[in-house]
Amino acid sequence: MHIAIVGAGAAAVGLLDALAGSVEGAGEVTVLEPSPHLWRGRPYGPDLDSVLVNAPPAIMSIRRADSGHYASWLGAERAAAHLDDLLGQPLVPRALYGAYLADTAEAAVTGLCARGWRVRVVPARVVAVTGAGLRPELLTEDGHHHPADQVVLCVGGGTPQDHYGLGGAPGFVGDPYPLAHTLDQVPAGSDVAVIGSGLTAVDVVVSLAARGHGGRIALVSRSGLLPHVWQRPLGHRPRHVTVERVEALHRAHGCVTLDDLAGLLRAELAEEGEDFADFAAELMGAASEEPVRRLRRQLAAAGDPRIGRRVLQETAHTVGPYAWRLLPESDRDRLRRHFRLATSVASPMVPVNAAVLLRLFDSGQLTVAAGVRKIEAVDGGFRVRGDSGDLHADVVVNAVNPPPQAVPRAAEPLVTSLLAGGLAALHPAGGLVPADPRLHVVGDLAGGGPFITSGIPGVAARAARTAQEVLATRVG
Ligand SMILES: Cc1cc2nc3c(=O)[nH]c(=O)nc-3n(C[C@H](O)[C@H](O)[C@H](O)COP(=O)(O)OP(=O)(O)OC[C@H]3O[C@@H](n4cnc5c(N)ncnc54)[C@H](O)[C@@H]3O)c2cc1C
Repeated sequence: MHIAIVGAGAAAVGLLDALAGSVEGAGEVTVLEPSPHLWRGRPYGPDLDSVLVNAPPAIMSIRRADSGHYASWLGAERAAAHLDDLLGQPLVPRALYGAYLADTAEAAVTGLCARGWRVRVVPARVVAVTGAGLRPELLTEDGHHHPADQVVLCVGGGTPQDHYGLGGAPGFVGDPYPLAHTLDQVPAGSDVAVIGSGLTAVDVVVSLAARGHGGRIALVSRSGLLPHVWQRPLGHRPRHVTVERVEALHRAHGCVTLDDLAGLLRAELAEEGEDFADFAAELMGAASEEPVRRLRRQLAAAGDPRIGRRVLQETAHTVGPYAWRLLPESDRDRLRRHFRLATSVASPMVPVNAAVLLRLFDSGQLTVAAGVRKIEAVDGGFRVRGDSGDLHADVVVNAVNPPPQAVPRAAEPLVTSLLAGGLAALHPAGGLVPADPRLHVVGDLAGGGPFITSGIPGVAARAARTAQEVLATRVG
């Protein structure tokens, strides 16, 4: 069997790790990736130390069956060196997490080779996969052909879209990563407008602060909604909001609804003496509460002993991707209508970053401007037009998150070839659905996947399942 893996980010690492734990007999794996930063993907390459992972170690393990895998790799000494006091957990620079991914991948390659498998890395971008009916063949940018029996796309998600047509304007940063390079273009005293108010915007602000930026910074977006703040983990293990309970509901009723999932959360909270209605009202209040006031309250509540938000934040990534596929379309639409709120809850910022933001808000250096309608390049700078008037900026940094299931730019020709050859189809809600049993998709491009961007737990779970599916074709 010859498995081709397109892309070498976290999804590919999860897949290789799962394959190494399961393969039998002989076989071959070819990984195709143009980036020199193998196994790190878009988020975890070299960057500033202020660019941190966004989640505690228990939900950063790339090995699905072992939630302690990453924490063991990190070890006590490194964990202590990167402790976030408010979270009570280590939060490392994303580049260091990239070293964990690289070590895990290398161990998997060694394991596969020890079992008689051959593993090869081809440093090239895949521009086409052909072969409906025949053996699939991958075409790389340099004109080489690579035959395979099974093809797994691990190409990641999209890059920020240029909603205001500012591409090419001097002072416009279209894609902020790696911040180590892009922030070099930002003069220390300049007024900066950051488009967006999600986690990428938080990374930009925190990194500007770490570089001693002296100018004003404005977060400009339509909603002005900031990510929630992680709370200190309490070691609570959900007993109701679990994949097993969702599976049981599905078996019993043939479907799972949003009300069923709310019922599981209600039961989880009731066991701890917490009221579901109060919890839901607090969440829904996010859209109307003044963002800095909410940030201050949330930071103060990092140690609040109530479990509600912790359960929701963890299970959004562990149970959510599984449950999403079982929901009726009408319930998915209900959730999609709350996309911004759901993203701000499911992808919270780490307290150490929240504290930096609060300090900048309190000093007046940072502001949030919601209701932004237009941004124009004018007189060597930018005019931001919003509900509360105009704002001037010298530099605009685009920190808009791409929608989930967006096709990454680097994979556009490849996706076009798959659609043209009938090997895959577009899902109506975005993303790609394989139309051939020899093609698989892991990560945000997977059509029918959750409406929020996948975190590591979702990617790891899908990678482990895909490894089983790929190996099962060999038995069949
Ligand atoms: C900036 C950022 C920060 C994040 N931080 C966190 C976090 O702290 N915690 C968390 O749980 N999740 C985080 N996420 C979510 C993230 O989606 C996952 O953690 C994870 O990186 C997804 O892995 P992936 O392999 O699917 O995609 P990626 O890591 O993006 O890897 C995709 C790879 O595919 C390659 N590729 C693309 N097209 C081709 C092609 N045509 N041919 C060959 N190779 C190709 C790319 O070069 C890239 O290396 C973050 C996401 C972003 C964007």
